[in-house]
Amino acid sequence: MTEEAKFQVKPGKLFINGEWREPLSGESFQSINPATGEPITDIALAGDEDVDQAVRAARQAFESGKWRQLSAADRGKILWRIGDLVMQYADELAYLETIDAGKPITESRYVDIPMVAELFHYYAGWTTKIQGETIPVSGPFFNYTLREPVGVVAAITPWNFPLLLACWKIAPALAAGNTVIAKPAEETSLSLLRLAELIQEIDLPPGVFNVVTGPGRVGAALVRHPGVDKIAFTGETTTGQQIMREAAATLKKVTLELGGKSPNIVLADADLDQATRGAFIGIFYNNGQVCTAGSRLFVEQAIHDQLLERLTARAQKAQPGDPLNPKTRLGPLASQAQLEKVMRYVEIGRREGAILVTGGDRPSLGNGKGFYFNPTIFDRVDNKMKIAQDEIFGPVLSVIPVRDLDEAIEKANDTIYGLAAGVWTRDIKKAHRLARELKAGTVWINTYNRYDVASPFGGYKKSGFGRELGMHALEYYTQVKSVWVDLSE
Ligand code: NDP
Repeated sequence: MTEEAKFQVKPGKLFINGEWREPLSGESFQSINPATGEPITDIALAGDEDVDQAVRAARQAFESGKWRQLSAADRGKILWRIGDLVMQYADELAYLETIDAGKPITESRYVDIPMVAELFHYYAGWTTKIQGETIPVSGPFFNYTLREPVGVVAAITPWNFPLLLACWKIAPALAAGNTVIAKPAEETSLSLLRLAELIQEIDLPPGVFNVVTGPGRVGAALVRHPGVDKIAFTGETTTGQQIMREAAATLKKVTLELGGKSPNIVLADADLDQATRGAFIGIFYNNGQVCTAGSRLFVEQAIHDQLLERLTARAQKAQPGDPLNPKTRLGPLASQAQLEKVMRYVEIGRREGAILVTGGDRPSLGNGKGFYFNPTIFDRVDNKMKIAQDEIFGPVLSVIPVRDLDEAIEKANDTIYGLAAGVWTRDIKKAHRLARELKAGTVWINTYNRYDVASPFGGYKKSGFGRELGMHALEYYTQVKSVWVDLSE
């Protein structure tokens, strides 16, 4: 490890039972900086035995009751303290996120990391509000419910918002009294390992939180393991399907946050400046590596040319740059594989006959080995084309002209996905009609990519099931027990 040594992340080790362990597998892999294509450090590659140890530690910590039976208020205080620590070390965590994922430092430092802290603060408040009910049953009986933790939760997460998406799961899971094993994406393990180090500083019983690193097969080992009670997964739809199939063998509870191909609909009466900004952020925020990316822009014919002109000008101005520069808004893509995928789809778009308006190529930056790609817009896209149906997960926008609202609704819903949708209009009736008719877990009206820890998030259709964030997430980290007491004489 080079200058990153000052950030202390334990390279090549796993965080199991409150301590750093060499992997029994003896294997490791390199983490690559996407801005330079150079290795950052070695990361431990957990084998099946390592996964087994992590599960045993989490199981033991759960059964011991040291966490789930701690008073709810004390659990809340510990979560609050984690949130404080995240803010105290926000600069380091943001730096790690940026060198590992290529995310612009301004976004890591002022968007991702503060929201991570907020998650712990928000769910700290919930620990004392997870409660049962008394039920007015017939007969001389007293019936009440207990809301109990599920047990050992495995959180398996992707590389686009590495720490944030892991903590979407870790914070509510811990709040409800579960123990957790987190498996970050192979490309981006550093921030979660650093969080484990920070957590070591506080009074969390050993085994309550564990981190195992490595490729997909480490996640698969967690899914197979009989000692895991629940899989909380974010990633691709095909991986989610595989997880569901595997989880059936041990009948694990599963929540899946999967892919998207979200429609962003601009009606002719929209505020054009606002809609241009929204369309731009919708697709190019985090280089389009966002599950909710507004990758299909449906535009009413009447304003198509005007909107496209403004959007193109904006995209051409937005040059990618060094993600560590605070002025940068577009960094490199997160990995070589992602860059290749994006380039493949640009080629497909060309072959399908869509019109490439801007981008489609790579800028020459730094040492020339970073995974940079220019913001790309295709116009006159048919909703049936592959670039309009497949999740590209990159800075590639498909503009699809539509005659009217009805065509926009029909085409927006013509996708296997249903994660999010955006609507731009000044007409309140049309806005609410769209909100109801769009088959998506989130609909944004005159805004895009808004999130709040208190507001539920999740998919319709093949974008998954279960809900994250807000009080809704707690449903999926708890189970209800019905208790009967005979009160007859
Ligand atoms: P993947 O599905 O490839 O991977 C997600 C995680 O699962 C990674 O940690 C991965 O490990 C692991 N994994 C891979 N194979 C298996 C397996 N067979 N069993 C268990 N775990 C496995 O997704 P990406 O990392 O490529 O992430 C991009 C995807 O995530 C996109 O489809 C995007 O839409 C989706 N996403 C969804 C969000 C939502 O909330 N709905 C939010 C953000 C992203 P490894 O990476 O090391 O192979």
